[in-house]
Amino acid sequence: MARGTELTCIVVGHVDYGEADRIVHLATPEHGRIAALAKGARKSRKRFTGALDLGNRIQALVHRGRGELWLMNGATLEHGRPHIRNDLDRIALAAYACELVSSLMPAEHEAVKLYTLLDVALLTLDAMTGPPELLWRLGLEAKALTFAGFTPRLLLCDVCGLELSDPAVFAPDAGGARHGHCGGGQEVSVELLGAIEQARRTPLADLVDVTCPPGDRNILVELLRWHTGRELKSKGLVSDLGL
Ligand SMILES: [Zn+2]
Repeated sequence: MARGTELTCIVVGHVDYGEADRIVHLATPEHGRIAALAKGARKSRKRFTGALDLGNRIQALVHRGRGELWLMNGATLEHGRPHIRNDLDRIALAAYACELVSSLMPAEHEAVKLYTLLDVALLTLDAMTGPPELLWRLGLEAKALTFAGFTPRLLLCDVCGLELSDPAVFAPDAGGARHGHCGGGQEVSVELLGAIEQARRTPLADLVDVTCPPGDRNILVELLRWHTGRELKSKGLVSDLGL
C-alpha cells in the first residue's frame, strides 16, 4: 500500500481523538483547509517528533481516507517558529493568525494566497523582537478578507458612492463604511479607515512599527463574523493583551 504523498502545510489546530490519536487541522496551498487523523500521535514520538504544534510548517505524509478525514502517516518539521514560543504576545497573535486565516479558507479547495499569507504572518512574527503595533493585525485581517473575496470597503460610501468623510460609520452587513448621514453603523474615523486600507496594501513586515490611529480596532473582526458566522476563540486573548 502506498504510504501517501508529501504535503507542505501549516498546523492550524488539533483535537485529541480516542486513546492515542489526534485529529490535526491543516492549512495547505493545494487543498485549502483539511483535517487529518494522526494515528498514535500522542504516543509515538518517532513518526511525528513534536512536529504537530500550532503554527508549525511541516511536510506531512498523507493520503485520503474514506470520508472527509485524511490519514497522516508521518510528519517532519520545516519551520517551528522558534522565536515566537517564549513570548506570550506573539504566541497569542500566532494562534489568532492560524484561526483567522483558516476560518476563511475553503475546505478541500485550492487556497494559495491565504496559505502564503498565513506563512508570511508567522514568519514575520518569528522575526520580530517584540509584539507588533496594532495595525499589523488589522493589515492581516484586511488581507485575509480580501483573499477570501470579502474585500472591505474602506474609502467610498456604500450608499452614495462618494469618498468618505467624517462622521463615518462601519456597517458589517454592508461590507464596509458609509457616511454617518447615509446610514447606520459603528462610529469610525476616516483616518482609521484610510490607515487600514493602506495596511491592506502594505507587506506585513513593513507594518510592525506603524502606529495605528485611534478608534474601534475591531471593525474587521465584525466584518469577518458577518461573513463566516463564526466567533474567533483566540480573539479574546489577543484583546486582553491589548494587541
Ligand atoms: Zn454616503
